[in-house]
Amino acid sequence: MPEENIDILINAGWLIPVVPRNTVLRDCSIAIRDGRIIALLPSGEAQQRFSAEQQYDLPDSLLIPGLINAHGHAAMSLLRGYADDQSLHTWLNESIWPVESRWMSEEFVYDGAEIAIAEMLLGGTTCFSDMYFFPDQTARAARSNGIKCQLAFPVLEFPSAWARNADEYIHKGLALRDEFRDDKRISIAFGPHAPYTVNDPALEKIATLAGELDAPIQIHLHESADEVAQSIADHGLRPIERISKLGLLSPLTQCVHMTQLIDSDIALLVESGSHVIHCPESNLKLGNGFCPIDALQKAGINIALGTDGAASNNDLSLLGEARTAALIAKGVSGNPELLPAHEALELATINGARALGIDTDTGSIEVGKAADLVAIDLSGIASQPLYNAFSQLIYTDSASRVSHTWVDGKLRVEDGQLLHTDQSELVKKAQTWQAKIQAER
Ligand SMILES: [Zn+2]
Repeated sequence: MPEENIDILINAGWLIPVVPRNTVLRDCSIAIRDGRIIALLPSGEAQQRFSAEQQYDLPDSLLIPGLINAHGHAAMSLLRGYADDQSLHTWLNESIWPVESRWMSEEFVYDGAEIAIAEMLLGGTTCFSDMYFFPDQTARAARSNGIKCQLAFPVLEFPSAWARNADEYIHKGLALRDEFRDDKRISIAFGPHAPYTVNDPALEKIATLAGELDAPIQIHLHESADEVAQSIADHGLRPIERISKLGLLSPLTQCVHMTQLIDSDIALLVESGSHVIHCPESNLKLGNGFCPIDALQKAGINIALGTDGAASNNDLSLLGEARTAALIAKGVSGNPELLPAHEALELATINGARALGIDTDTGSIEVGKAADLVAIDLSGIASQPLYNAFSQLIYTDSASRVSHTWVDGKLRVEDGQLLHTDQSELVKKAQTWQAKIQAER
């Protein structure tokens, strides 16, 4: 009889641990106790060694680490498809900001965040970073749905339903940080929206406070050519030069988008040890240009992956985003060897964990880490034949074949269905909001 008691044993046909790199294991098992991985071993041995309270036999499935969506605006799921095919400037000024200012409320954010979280869990995301008004509501939705998240509380100069000015945004964000100090699944970062929406004094204040508190900063940076040109016209500096001078770049800084880069921009990233969050589908859709993966990789910069909000993507599938990242890297560089499938998966897992400073807890399937895991069913016609599990995972529509998602060893998705949330209720909520918003358009 097996001697060691554990909570969960998962037996899988294929397993990609991400660390070590570019590795596919066959017929192996993960033993979980108290939400953490205590062993990773061949299934034959696992049956001899462990007695599990719950066992999952998934011989036709691939297990991967939970995905980390390193940039988004969850509540914007309520604005999915509200305004498409516009430039960033038009989209923000004429569509998104007006509709947000009309409808922004605690209820809007909570409902939108729940809808986004459901979509993310169903697609294998176990941790996301968010930047939006009423971050306390997104935190509440994350907590009640058992997903991990980094809340980069927004800071802007203009008023919203959440705060009147930069000082109040910061004040409220710091209160949120105190409130969630002991929450293991939720962390708080500073989220200065962008260099063009926050003035120098507030950016300096954020740099000082973040330094004192050892807190991460996430900022939209070099999202468009217009942003760079406007910054040079207004400040005589490129956006990254300006925020560097103001003290915002450090190993805890997460720079989102980073298109339109020149060598000196990349040098600033290298010098500071800051991270890049690549959001290729949002960049493509808004016609903003390309993040130069090749040059960033050569410079040794950590690149994570984000979907951005559903209003500029328009889905929250991180596996789909990894596919786009791989394809666009090849297409733009003319080099098909760039960003192979195993590296695209690193962007969506371990690199995201490094960017958010949680890589000792998650981002790979390793003993001691949290059991943040995703199973993908490879038995269907669109996954066959299976020469290479990485290839199937990244270059086919694998997000639609996610069958199980565990966060800290807790099963959140089983057989492609949310376990703790009524999906039809969420659909009704989305439709109710659409009717209200459309009635006043
Ligand atoms: Zn964004």
